Amino acid sequence: MIPAAFDYYRPKTMGDVIALLQEHGDDARVMAGGHSLIPMMKLRMADVPHLIDLQAIDGLDAITIDGGRITLGAMVTQHDLINNDGLSNAAPILSEAALQIADPQVRYMGTVGGNVANGDPGNDMPGLMQCLDAQIKVVGPDGERMIAARDYYESAYMTLRADDEVLVSIEFDAPAGGHAYEKQKRKIGDYATAAAAVQITSDAGKVGSASIAMTNLSDVPVWSEAAGAALVGTACDDTAIKAAVAAMLGDIDPSEDNRGPVAFKRHVAGITLSRAITRAWSRTTA
Ligand code: FAD
Repeated sequence: MIPAAFDYYRPKTMGDVIALLQEHGDDARVMAGGHSLIPMMKLRMADVPHLIDLQAIDGLDAITIDGGRITLGAMVTQHDLINNDGLSNAAPILSEAALQIADPQVRYMGTVGGNVANGDPGNDMPGLMQCLDAQIKVVGPDGERMIAARDYYESAYMTLRADDEVLVSIEFDAPAGGHAYEKQKRKIGDYATAAAAVQITSDAGKVGSASIAMTNLSDVPVWSEAAGAALVGTACDDTAIKAAVAAMLGDIDPSEDNRGPVAFKRHVAGITLSRAITRAWSRTTA
């Protein structure tokens, strides 16, 4: 398929991007890597008469690690996440997750900002950012504002970002303790049937804190506060992991689709989370 005709813009300043968004309203969309948007346009599932390319805006592709605070510019690619040594040391869950997205060709183009902004329940970065308790910075006609990743998603493809706002960066504290990003998919390069992002700290042999987020098991990513709480203070043994899985299953709401019926997805979600917790715990240092 080829997309419907559209006007293409490549502004050099964020002010020009926002002016175009205001001018064209619902008929305009920004494009980052284009690896979600262009396929949607080709399938005629997205109609974008005015396409605004962000590639010429300076300063959106920086990775900053400053005093334990990490900031990812919106145009940082999934490839960048995998190949930045400082980032791999400070937050190794990012590269572990990015390596499970699509294939190298997609990862050279696909951006963190596009993945987080998109609102597709199958995208891997939103759950990951909820696990990391990230803050999302958007800029619009009224200036900048921060939105917590855990509040950002309203329903599939609907987020708290207004149509005339652009996501410019995502920031979070470098996570402590052990991590794991576990993803079950039908084949290499596929979106998740279920995925779990887990960060755990240990305190004198017990779980000190745990953050757990699930992907593609509801119409939004699910940060399961109850699942994390079920682990805290335990030795992260089988009983505790089963309790965390039970709590997580109370928070997700999968739908039947070509990745399987609901019962199968819930089963896969449980196995995926168990594996992620076990691996994250094995990586903790007291
Ligand atoms: P684009 O496609 O350019 O944009 C996506 C949406 O976000 C659009 O609505 C756009 O308007 C909006 N947007 C983009 N940037 C901004 C911004 N800065 N501010 C506001 N709005 C913005 N993703 C996964 O997570 N997991 C997978 O397993 C996976 N598999 C894939 C397999 C294939 C074959 C392909 C083609 C893609 C796959 N993807 C997967 C999607 C890929 O990771 C996309 O690149 C990513 O989701 C979107 O990033 P992008 O930069 O390409 O965004």
